[in-house]
This record gives sequence, C-alpha cells and structure tokens, in this order.
Amino acid sequence: MTITQPRPHSALGAHGSVLVVNSGSSSIKYQLVNPVGGEAIASGIVERIGEDVGTVKHTFAGSTTQRDEAIADHGAGLRVVLGLFEEIGPDLAAAHVVAVGHRVVHGGSDFTGPALVDDDVIARIDALAPLAPLHNPANLTGIQVARELLPDVPHVVVFDTAFFHTLPDAAATYAIDQGVATTYGVRRYGFHGTSHEYVSGKVARVLGRRIEELNQIVLHLGNGASASAVRGGVAVETSMGLTPLEGLVMGTRSGDVDPAVLIHLQRNAGMSVDDIDDLLNRRSGLKGLAGENDFREIHRLVEEGDPSAQRALDVYIHRLRKYVGAYLAILGRVDVITFTAGVGENDDVVRALALAGLEPFGIAVDPERNAGRKKEPTTISPDWTSTRVMVVPTNEELAIARQAIATIEKAGLEGTSDETDPAPAATGHA
Ligand code: ADP
Repeated sequence: MTITQPRPHSALGAHGSVLVVNSGSSSIKYQLVNPVGGEAIASGIVERIGEDVGTVKHTFAGSTTQRDEAIADHGAGLRVVLGLFEEIGPDLAAAHVVAVGHRVVHGGSDFTGPALVDDDVIARIDALAPLAPLHNPANLTGIQVARELLPDVPHVVVFDTAFFHTLPDAAATYAIDQGVATTYGVRRYGFHGTSHEYVSGKVARVLGRRIEELNQIVLHLGNGASASAVRGGVAVETSMGLTPLEGLVMGTRSGDVDPAVLIHLQRNAGMSVDDIDDLLNRRSGLKGLAGENDFREIHRLVEEGDPSAQRALDVYIHRLRKYVGAYLAILGRVDVITFTAGVGENDDVVRALALAGLEPFGIAVDPERNAGRKKEPTTISPDWTSTRVMVVPTNEELAIARQAIATIEKAGLEGTSDETDPAPAATGHA
C-alpha cells in the first residue's frame, strides 16, 4: 500500500551513497546514506522474515510504502527491498552506491576496525558465532545475500566491538582462571562502539577542540544502554562485556547481576541455560521491574503513583550514577559527559536525575537548557561547571557509511575523501 507519492530527491548522485544494512535474525534494517551530507536518502525495515506474513516498510522522500507478504528468508527480503528501490525510488544506479556497509555485532579480539568483505573475513565472522550466537550468524546471512544481489559493489563490515579494542588489559580482563578465559575468549569486548566513537568525535568537532585534548564519558541510553570512558579519543572503559548484557539497566536486559544468580537459578529454580538467557535478556531491565521497557510508559506510570515503575526508575538511575562515578575515578578529569540514543536524547528527567547533586565534582545540569528533546548537539550544563554536559544525537548509520567509505578508499577502490561535517558548528544552549 503506497501512502503518498514520492518526490525526487536532490541529494542523489553528487558524491555517491552507501547502503547500510543491519541484518538481525528475523529482520533487516537498511538506510541509503549520503556519507558527505549525512542525510538518509531512503530507509526501511523488513520484519518477520520466515513467518506467515512479513512486512517491508520503505521510506523515501517523506513517504512510506508498506508491503505485507510472506518473506521466506533474508534473500527474499532483500529482493523485495531492491524491488522497492526500483519501483518507488531512489534509483540505486542514479544514487551511485559506492559501498554496502554492514553492521556486525561481535568482532572478537580479531577485528580492531572495519574490513572489506571477502571469503576470509566471512569465515572469521562465522568463527566468532559462539560469542554472539543470536547476532553474528544473522549479520552474516545479511552479508551473504547482499553480496549475491549486489555483486558489483564493495561490501564493508563495521563491528560494534571495534572501538573498544583499545581497552587496557586491566579493564578488559575478568578475574577468572586465565586458562579458561583464553580458551573460550572470555574477556570484555564492549558494544555500541560505532555510537560511542561517533558521539565522542562529534563532541570534539562541535566544541572545536582536538579530540586528543578531551576526557569524555558517553552515556548511550537506548533500548540497549552502555557507558564509556574515552581518554583523548581512545576508549579506556565501557560497561558492556563479553556480550551486550553487562552493565547498565536496559529496556529488557538486566545489566550487572551477581554471576551466582545464574548458578542459584539453575540449581534451585530448575531453569535451563535457555531459560536464564531469556530471563536476563528479554524479561529483565525496565520490563522486568515495571512491565514496560519504554521510558515514556515508565514516566506515565510513575505519575499515576505506580510503585513498580518508581522502583524501575530508581534502579535505572542508581546504576547509571554508579557508572558515572566509576568513570570519574578512571579518568580523573572529565571534560564532557554526553547523553545519546533514544532515552539520552529525549528524556530530560533521566538526564537530570543521572547527574543530580554532583556540584562538588563540578558537574551540573541546567534545568532550562536540559528541558525537552534534543535533535541537535546541545550543551545542558550551566556555564560555571568544569565538566560540560551535552546531548548529542547518535547516528550509527552515518558512522557505518563513513567507515565504509574510508575502508574502500584505503583499499584503493572508489570513494570520496570529503569528510565535511555539515552539523551545527556551535553548541546551542536551547
Ligand atoms: P535501540 O537501542 O533499539 O536503538 P533507541 O536508541 O531508539 O533504541 O531508544 C529507544 C528507547 O528510547 C525507547 O524504548 C524509549 O525508552 C526511549 N525514548 C524514545 N523516545 C522517548 C521520549 N520522547 N521520551 C523518553 N524516552 C524516549
């Protein structure tokens, strides 16, 4: 069903574009990105792959087209998407797609940056499946079908873990038998790296500072949530570990629990490994505490006097503050604390509570500057603080697109070296 007629898009063709693909177990998200201007030319999602009725939503030039039909597998899903590009637009040939950038969740210790896809890279991602059984095989399926359907374009993989390959040994190591740890790759890898790298880089550009001069804490608070400490552009600590389960309270994930909770439940509640996986990844966090994983609902319930929702908010904020405190100690001096992602960009209550009462550390949030949702980089601290507090919207698709361009250029393939960042040059105090 077409909702409205698309208009032609002006950004096509000038510098080429990158198709960014994020393939999950039953979904494919995609975005056609102008890596120079930064805008999404078109975007969409294929959902419920393998079910009786799947859905494809394709957005171009302000209008969304939806198709409801059975989508047998990822290949069929991507074929529908390519058909929609042909039928609705934009024309991929005219958009001059110079690369396809694929998000891959786990790069293990192996991948410290993006990589041009070849058979060897595919085999190495495949070998990492035991570390990310839900994600890497699904990512790989997307890469394989995209390579088959778009064989003439270079494909680049960008890893969620790569930015955190610089974690010092002391931060990356779990205090367990190192024989077991080494054999099974049990260490802290960190996730959301593309976002933490993009946001910390953007902060430096917006402030007109060299990233090497800045000590930063980045709080990526979405459905998944993670914190990072970044010294001079180099990640030195992050809250996620072997998997994206460790650390902060999230929408449906527990974050930190005593590991003995798992042993206790296995021994005494008759729960299997899969039951516990489901409990901690899908039935915990805000959802487990209050029955809702969306902060808009949590706030609504708090206003109604719901004690579970109040407790969920309290537990969430308590954990977040613990990490902020820890990263103050790790960095010593913190120049900027930045909120990003769905909650970080939109929820002024969470931002205010997260940093309340930290004036003795030179940290404060100005109520007027903090108020409301932030669509642009914004400073929300008062002028007197030694640590600036900001909100900077993340853009993982753009970051993947730019990394894809840099990778194909490095490999001597086609691309554009224009690194212009058209975002606002100064922080608003809105
Ligand atoms: P994901 O991790 O799935 O990419 P997002 O970064 O898009 O998640 O964040 C989604 C979450 O952001 C929602 O579950 C909700 O809690 C929060 N959120 C979105 N909009 C608002 C809003 N206006 N106010 C408060 N929270 C919001």
